[in-house]
Amino acid sequence: MAECVFCQIAEGKIPALKIYENEDLLAFLDISPLSDGHTLVIPKKHFERLDELPEDLACKIARILPKLSKAIVKATGAKGYNILQNNGKVAGQQVMHVHFHIIPRDEADGLGYRWLAKKYPEGKDKAIQEKILSALKD
Ligand code: AMP
Repeated sequence: MAECVFCQIAEGKIPALKIYENEDLLAFLDISPLSDGHTLVIPKKHFERLDELPEDLACKIARILPKLSKAIVKATGAKGYNILQNNGKVAGQQVMHVHFHIIPRDEADGLGYRWLAKKYPEGKDKAIQEKILSALKD
């Protein structure tokens, strides 16, 4: 994956401001942050999307998120943070190497929050529930 920018960061071929590293994972500051301390957490091995991750690697990422978030909040004085994880271009993924954003938040950061909730038409929620339950058996 020589063309993948995050693989190149993981391999030390291009620089990044690292804040955490172990055998499997790397965390570094986002080069175009939404706020001070905006951090990306990646597996060193290339996977495109969350649903492609082996369970043990997903667990390793999940295990480190609280510790990193705590340190980032402490260091930045943020009042809160978002964990953001985009999968696919349609969902806003620009770098096709799975990653988690930790985005420190403050009241006055101007980032806002869009949550355009809708209502299911009659019966559609149950139909979707059944489809997902069936897909989980695959
Ligand atoms: P996403 O839209 O979820 O794919 O986010 C990709 C993120 O990667 C963006 O926030 C970019 O600013 C960030 N990014 C891209 N290239 C680099 C880089 N070389 N070093 C650090 N962050 C990067």
